[in-house]
Amino acid sequence: MDTLLKTHNKLEFLPQLHVFPEKASNVGSMKLRNPELRFCLHKSYKKRVRNGCVKATSSTLLELVPETKKENLEFDLPMCDPSKGLVVDLAVVGGGPAGLAVAQQVSKAGLSVCLIDPSPKLIWPNNYGVWVDEFEAMDLLDCLDTTWSGAVVYIDDKTKKDLGRPYGRVNRKQLKSKMLQKCLSNGVKFHQAKVVKVVHEESESLLICNDGVTIHAAVVLDATGFSRCLVQYDKPYNPGYQVAYGILAEVEEHPFDIDKMVFMDWRDSHLDNNLEVKERNRKIPTFLYAMPFSSGRIFLEETSLVARPGVPMEDIQERMVARLRHLGIKVKSIEEDERCVIPMGGPLPVLPQRVVGIGGTAGMVHPSTGYMVARTLAAAPIVANSIVQYLGSGRGLSGNELAAEVWKDLWPIQRRRQREFFCFGMDILLKLDLQATRRFFDAFFDLEPHYWHGFLSSRLFLPELIFFGLSLFSHASNTSRIEIMTKGTLPLVYMINNLVQDRE
Ligand SMILES: Cc1cc2nc3c(=O)[nH]c(=O)nc-3n(C[C@H](O)[C@H](O)[C@H](O)COP(=O)(O)OP(=O)(O)OC[C@H]3O[C@@H](n4cnc5c(N)ncnc54)[C@H](O)[C@@H]3O)c2cc1C
Repeated sequence: MDTLLKTHNKLEFLPQLHVFPEKASNVGSMKLRNPELRFCLHKSYKKRVRNGCVKATSSTLLELVPETKKENLEFDLPMCDPSKGLVVDLAVVGGGPAGLAVAQQVSKAGLSVCLIDPSPKLIWPNNYGVWVDEFEAMDLLDCLDTTWSGAVVYIDDKTKKDLGRPYGRVNRKQLKSKMLQKCLSNGVKFHQAKVVKVVHEESESLLICNDGVTIHAAVVLDATGFSRCLVQYDKPYNPGYQVAYGILAEVEEHPFDIDKMVFMDWRDSHLDNNLEVKERNRKIPTFLYAMPFSSGRIFLEETSLVARPGVPMEDIQERMVARLRHLGIKVKSIEEDERCVIPMGGPLPVLPQRVVGIGGTAGMVHPSTGYMVARTLAAAPIVANSIVQYLGSGRGLSGNELAAEVWKDLWPIQRRRQREFFCFGMDILLKLDLQATRRFFDAFFDLEPHYWHGFLSSRLFLPELIFFGLSLFSHASNTSRIEIMTKGTLPLVYMINNLVQDRE
C-alpha cells in the first residue's frame, strides 16, 4: 500500500493493498474479503481459547490476531413499515455515534425518525479515546469504562512531558446502549439495510435501499462516516490520512504507569538495529499511543499522525513489532485488533446541499488530530435543534431551503474558519520529519493548558487561534521557528486565501 486514493464517495486503496472496505476499520469484513491481508495468521501458531482471544504458542506478535468478534446488543428494535408509504420527518442513514445522537434528539421533540443501518445492533468496532472533560461537559461520564488521571508524551529518550489532563476510554457498548435506549423510548424506528441512492422531490426525499425498500423522508441525514454515502463533494478530495494499527492485548508485563495513558511516544531507539526502517521513520514518523488498563492488559496503537499518501499498514505493523520487542512487551494474547484509516482535512462537502450531514461524512474530523467523537456528539444537538426548529416552523420551507438552514447551523462561518486553521496545522504537520515533529510537540505541550486543550478539543475560534499560533511560536526553539516559517509559509498563504474567499 503506497498510496491511499479517495475517489468520489468511495475510499479505495491502490492495488498494492488490494481493496479496502468502505469502513476501513471494519476489520472483520476486510479479513473475510481479503484473506491475504491477514498477515501470517497460521492455524499452527495459535490456539483458540474460550473468550475468543488467541493464545500464543509462538512469539511472533502478528500471528496472534484474533478472529473477528462481532457482538450485537440485545435490543428488540421496532422496524419501519415502508408498506404504509408514510413520510417520516427524518431519515438518518448510518447508526454510528453521529447518526444515533441526532436520531435520539430529534425523536425526543416528537418528530418521526427512521434510522437505516446494515447492522443497527452491532457494537461499534472502533476503540474511542477522549479527554474526560469533553465527556463530562456532555454528562457522559458513565460512558467511559476507564479513566487515567493524566497522560504522558515521550518527545525522545530524554524528554517526557506529563499532561495533567484526564483521559478516558469510551465504553462503546454502554454509549451505544444508552443512545439506542433513548431512541426506543422516543419512538425511533429502524430499517436494517444499506442505502444505495437518494431521489429528491420538492418536499420529500426517497431513500432506496439495497433490499429494494424505499423510505420516504422530509429530511435526510447522511451519517455514514468515511464512506460518505450521500453527501456530495465538488472539489478534488485530497485529505491526509491518519493510519494506525492497534491491539488490545494481554501481556506478560509492560513498562508504563497504569495511572497515565501514553498520548504519544515518539522515541525511536527501537529502530537502532534496523536502519532502513529507522530512516523511513525519520522521514514520516509514527508514535505509540497506549492505554494501560493493568500491569497485564493494555491497548497499544502504532500511529502515523497524518501523511499524504497514508503510511502503509504493513510498515506501521513492522514498526510496532520492533517497538514492543524493544520495550520488552511480550504479548500473550490479543483480544481485539484495529486497523485505523482516518481521512483528515480536505475540502468540506458542498454547502449547502439537500442531504444534511454529520460526523465523518460532513468533514467533522479534526484535521490536525483525527479526533471527532466528542466534537460530533456535542454538535448533534445543534443539528437536531435545527431540524426540529425548521421542520416545525410552519414557514413552509422547501426541502432545499430547510437543508440550507441546517447546514448553516452545522458549519457557521466561525467553525469553517476554525477548520481552515486546523487544516493549516495539518499542512505543517505533513511536512515535518521526526526531529521537527518532536520540536513541534515539545513547544505545543508547553503552551498554557487553555491553548493546547482548546486546540485539541476544537474550543478555540479564529481570533484566539491567532494568539495560540503566536504563543506556539514564542515557545518554539529557534530551529523550530525556522521550520514553522519555512514549511508553514505556503500553507499560511493558502489558508489566508481560503479565509478571504469564504464569506457568510
Ligand atoms: C479505527 C478508528 C478509531 C478511531 N478512534 C477515535 C478516537 O479514539 N477518538 C475520536 O474522537 N475519534 C476516533 N476516530 C474517528 C471518528 O471518531 C470515528 O470514525 C467515528 O466512528 C465516526 O463516527 P460516525 O458516526 O461519523 O461514523 P461511523 O462510526 O463510521 O458510522 C457510520 C455508520 O454508517 C453505516 N453506513 C455506512 N454506509 C451506509 C449506507 N450506505 N447505508 C446505511 N448505513 C451505512 C455504517 O455501517 C456505520 O454504522 C476513529 C476512527 C477509526 C476508523
